[in-house]
Amino acid sequence: MNNISFSKAQDIKSAINTAGSTEKEVRYIGGGTNLLDLMKYRVENPDQLIDINHLDLSEIKSTDDGGLVLGATVTNADTAYHEKVEKNYPLLSEAILAAASAQLRNMATNGGNLMQRTRCYYFYDTSMPCNKRLPGSGCAALEGFNRIHAILGASEHCIATHPSDMAVALAALDATVLVSGKEGERKIPILEFHRLPGDTPHNETNLKKGELITGIELPKKGFSMHYAYLKVRDRPSYAFALVSVAAALELEGDKIEDIRVALGGVAHKPWRKPEIEKEFQQMTASRENFEALAKKLLEGATGYGDNDFKIPLAKKTIVRALTEAMEK
Ligand SMILES: Cc1cc2nc3c(=O)[nH]c(=O)nc-3n(C[C@H](O)[C@H](O)[C@H](O)COP(=O)(O)OP(=O)(O)OC[C@H]3O[C@@H](n4cnc5c(N)ncnc54)[C@H](O)[C@@H]3O)c2cc1C
Repeated sequence: MNNISFSKAQDIKSAINTAGSTEKEVRYIGGGTNLLDLMKYRVENPDQLIDINHLDLSEIKSTDDGGLVLGATVTNADTAYHEKVEKNYPLLSEAILAAASAQLRNMATNGGNLMQRTRCYYFYDTSMPCNKRLPGSGCAALEGFNRIHAILGASEHCIATHPSDMAVALAALDATVLVSGKEGERKIPILEFHRLPGDTPHNETNLKKGELITGIELPKKGFSMHYAYLKVRDRPSYAFALVSVAAALELEGDKIEDIRVALGGVAHKPWRKPEIEKEFQQMTASRENFEALAKKLLEGATGYGDNDFKIPLAKKTIVRALTEAMEK
């Protein structure tokens, strides 16, 4: 049995100081819906848990420039059903509500959602090699059953995917993650928050030791007219995405003023390429152009056998999501 110390953080500063100034394995705990499972499977073995639910991070606030800050400990359910999120960022509401179950969304927090870990079977099975769980041990998924694994941005060390639906919508919306650490506060654009696996798949985000997510900032532009979150999975609920697409359009007649496409279930992080989106601005919103964008976004996609089907599936899902967004 492992001894674990548990404390309730009274303020942000002391939480950060405790987590950032020790050699021990410290984890913040939000809803506990992922961390406690990982501890039960002995995938994660922290020495210390810091409960952050009493910190002043449980509100959704408007920003001066018309955006919104989602507190880190606001639950996924309260976020999805918040009046301003439903009205101005329906893409985000839809993505959150496509995830997990009502009970889980009532517990899961926004910070914990971004930090949730992969659902790779070999990561959870401590009898198998996994570079993410035990650096240097190998990747059992490469030659194993890899139906749910990555087709983009993977490496010879890890082909796991990031499982969050919320993060995919946040990527399309150009959200910013607000963090606090011993060196102060900083803002990390969502596309720079999660990392590709490279040769350090155990480093999943660009958070530094002890840094705490305090909130997620949404810019004013919410694409509330033309959006779609399309999640393809094995069952219609309570299942992670095989492929998901967050699509958002700003249209002037049938001309594309702005276009965003982020993919989930296909990489170690939400997959989005703003430079490709730019090429399609001022073009006609048409199936032909959506297919061309999908082709470019999936350039370099590689299957590992069981997940080869994800490449054509992703292409079709992108086109369908953009078409749904256009027709809304
Ligand atoms: C059966 C099941 C099905 C699911 N299906 C889906 C799905 O379809 N789609 C989907 O997106 N998700 C799904 N989930 C995952 C669920 O969304 C996550 O478990 C949840 O969002 C994690 O939030 P939490 O607050 O419970 O995190 P916790 O379990 O409390 O923490 C998770 C990690 O985040 C860290 N952490 C928490 N808060 C902070 C913070 N503020 N700053 C820094 N680090 C922090 C913790 O230290 C820990 O490492 C499912 C989960 C289960 C159990």
